Amino acid sequence: APYPLKMEGKVISGFGRGSKELGIPTANLPVDATVTPWIEDVKSGVYFGYAAIDLPTSHPNANDTSSCTDTITKNIPNSNSNPHSSEPSSSSFAVFPMVMSIGYNPFYKNTVRSAEVHVLHRFAADFYGSHMRLLLLGFVREEKDYKSLDALIDDINFDCRVARTSLARDAWSPAAASPGAAEWL
Ligand code: ADP
Ligand code: MG
Repeated sequence: APYPLKMEGKVISGFGRGSKELGIPTANLPVDATVTPWIEDVKSGVYFGYAAIDLPTSHPNANDTSSCTDTITKNIPNSNSNPHSSEPSSSSFAVFPMVMSIGYNPFYKNTVRSAEVHVLHRFAADFYGSHMRLLLLGFVREEKDYKSLDALIDDINFDCRVARTSLARDAWSPAAASPGAAEWL
């Protein structure tokens, strides 16, 4: 399918493997081909793009400061109220760079395909149940298996840097990325 790829849904519980304790929490979205037709055909692997997350204004995350391990890219609007949204006005969509995995995670030998998003932002609180819209702009690499958890974590941290560096370029800002990108997010 051509980029950008769009996907949305409510953040659900994942496999509960303690990704958060490793410093790389992943917000899981339901993989449902009736909602997201392209997901059946897309190749498994790591993708990068943007995530718009519906955070209540009273949420502890509403005013938190940025950063994962590096500096966050410059082109991201802090908060985008969405004119097409039917969400109550007590929430607003904040847009963040993200890196995500679509696939079976061979290291964990999953039998169902998952879609998990690591948002490149340090949050003060979880956001299970929040609506999330994704704009996938590019492919980083195919899925790999690993000899150790440390090797997996090293690769994920590298993926984060690839995503961050790519998205920091003006050409990858939400507005420039593709027609309609800014509206979607
Ligand atoms: P699960 O197995 O339930 O997905 P994780 O350990 O992967 O558990 O943690 C995911 C949850 O952590 C997300 O659903 C979200 O609520 C929260 N979270 C906090 N910070 C982030 C982040 N930077 N990226 C993704 N999710 C985050
Ligand atoms: Mg997860």
